[in-house]
Amino acid sequence: MNKNLAKIAAIIISSALLTSCAINTEAKISNQIKQESSKIQNTSSNIAEDTKDKHENSSVKPNEAGKIMILMYHDIGPKEGEWVRTPENFKKDLETLYKKGYRLISIKDYINGDINIPKGTSPVVITFDDGTLGQFNMIKTNEGYTVDPNCAVGILEDFYKNHPDFGMKATFYVYYPVPFRQKDLIDLKFKHLIENGMDIGNHAYNHENLRNLSLEDIQKALGKNVYETKKHIQDYEVDSLALPYGIKPKLQNLKQYVIKGEYLNIKYENKAVLLVGSNPAYPIYSIKTKVDAIPRIRASEMNTYGTGLYDWLEYFDKHPEERYISDGNMNTISVPINKEKDINRDKVNGKEIIVIK
Ligand SMILES: [Zn+2]
Repeated sequence: MNKNLAKIAAIIISSALLTSCAINTEAKISNQIKQESSKIQNTSSNIAEDTKDKHENSSVKPNEAGKIMILMYHDIGPKEGEWVRTPENFKKDLETLYKKGYRLISIKDYINGDINIPKGTSPVVITFDDGTLGQFNMIKTNEGYTVDPNCAVGILEDFYKNHPDFGMKATFYVYYPVPFRQKDLIDLKFKHLIENGMDIGNHAYNHENLRNLSLEDIQKALGKNVYETKKHIQDYEVDSLALPYGIKPKLQNLKQYVIKGEYLNIKYENKAVLLVGSNPAYPIYSIKTKVDAIPRIRASEMNTYGTGLYDWLEYFDKHPEERYISDGNMNTISVPINKEKDINRDKVNGKEIIVIK
């Protein structure tokens, strides 16, 4: 390809990135991340393979330095797609996680390191981006509004009814002007979510790509989201951000404003900033955790490049020694002796560290 042709191709590719809809752009960017992370995954599975024998009999022991899956969903709808899960497949995901010993924690639990699940089980976080109707639809009946049993909230609530020990937690990263796409029901839906143990997070005011925004516009995009959410649920603390398209500001001196900033006297502070792809996270108190770059796993079975939910479930079945296993006590952090060095003692929030020899 000559230079001019290459230039034109580059312009076409970058303008396609800019003009395609949010979901397509997220797809392209996350695919790049995915390919990168496949390399990482292959390397780490080699390492795990080498050490497998040593850990074979220790797989049921607590490992609270292990990896935690933070799942990223987008829409729930009738036709399965790269960014859409059908109600049936979403139910299958919950069923599979439950059977394999995963239990729900919220993103706030993750941020605080308050992982309160039974001994021997593993935490999992469910997140939804974009605030679609398929995530939370309400249907009008004679008695008022009820939750559509085929939307994500309806499915989660039904699953919880039949499996109360699974937990009832999920975080919805919404943008404005109409989260969940029923403009008269924003209030009702937000209150329903909070009252039922679910959370609301920041996904920028209108899904802005933060890459090239000015300092003022970054703070406006993130602060205005919090400002709008607080109109509906005044005392609620929005403390995490899912980066639209997984993209941070390009300039080094602006990156810090994804964590903290101010807009119209509204201060925002994100204790966790979530990426689009494609690895499990470490606990908040791990030396490996960067709060401004918490990885998530795509809960999808399409174009996952070996890094989707089912790929990671299989990975943890083969490498149980890498999975976070609870000791059943929220106030202690139990770690195998070889993982003690991974704990950042400044971040354990008063919890006692128990080293298992
Ligand atoms: Zn999004």
